[in-house]
Amino acid sequence: MEDLAQLCIHTITTKPWPIEIAIEKYHAQGVRGISVWRQALDGRDPFEIGKRIRSANMNVVSLCRGGFFPDPDPAGQQKAIDDNLRAIDQAAELGAPLIVLVPGAIPGQSLSKSCTQIQKGIEAILPRAIELDIKLGIEALHPMYADSRSTINSLSHANDVCEIFNSPNLGVIVDVYHLWWERNLKAEINRCGQAGRIFAFHICDWKTPTIDMLNDRGLMGEGCIDIAKIRKWVNDAGFNGYHEVEIFSDIYWQMDQIEFLKKIIEAYLFHC
Ligand code: ZN
Repeated sequence: MEDLAQLCIHTITTKPWPIEIAIEKYHAQGVRGISVWRQALDGRDPFEIGKRIRSANMNVVSLCRGGFFPDPDPAGQQKAIDDNLRAIDQAAELGAPLIVLVPGAIPGQSLSKSCTQIQKGIEAILPRAIELDIKLGIEALHPMYADSRSTINSLSHANDVCEIFNSPNLGVIVDVYHLWWERNLKAEINRCGQAGRIFAFHICDWKTPTIDMLNDRGLMGEGCIDIAKIRKWVNDAGFNGYHEVEIFSDIYWQMDQIEFLKKIIEAYLFHC
């Protein structure tokens, strides 16, 4: 058991709630961290939302998400870069220290080509991130998304990309849902930990069976991931930040969101 001091929730987790409600409800339950998804900011002034979060005595942990760099067409690649530059500005206005980068992939385009485009995209936006003091965290996604969401599918690969740039503003996201299966996970966590590159730690669980590749994530304790063990590895590797609950679930989005929020806190206290 431990308290809620390091608990953060992603706004996508309670997708039915507008961000104003999410802030109010998270705060009322004692949650201190919030990661903001960009769609939650639609039609809103990021600066005002940041102010609202801080006046609830909460912290913005990250802005989700940037990335999706690959595109078969150079104009599309530039569009992705421009959108990421906007995300960096948005993060600065919001007061988010970190942007989560989902690298991207294009069905039918070779993984190596996509990887080159991802690296070019990072190269194009990193100076702006440094200028505004925003960190960029590469989130490797589970290999089931290698076709259309990420050609970076292991922490090992994300670490390799970070080493190419060797910038204090570029690091990794350790998301248990995407990485729990990785053979040398502990060693790879140590590798980025020693370099000071673990920027965030995301939690949820892997259900058996998983009935939807995108929107059937489980509550902590509901699946097969040993979250406490991975948490210990990231802690031992020097990470002492938030534990961010990120659950996409058609099932939970249909629930009463207050009940769901209470279940999240219960599951967090018991299983993490
Ligand atoms: Zn994540």
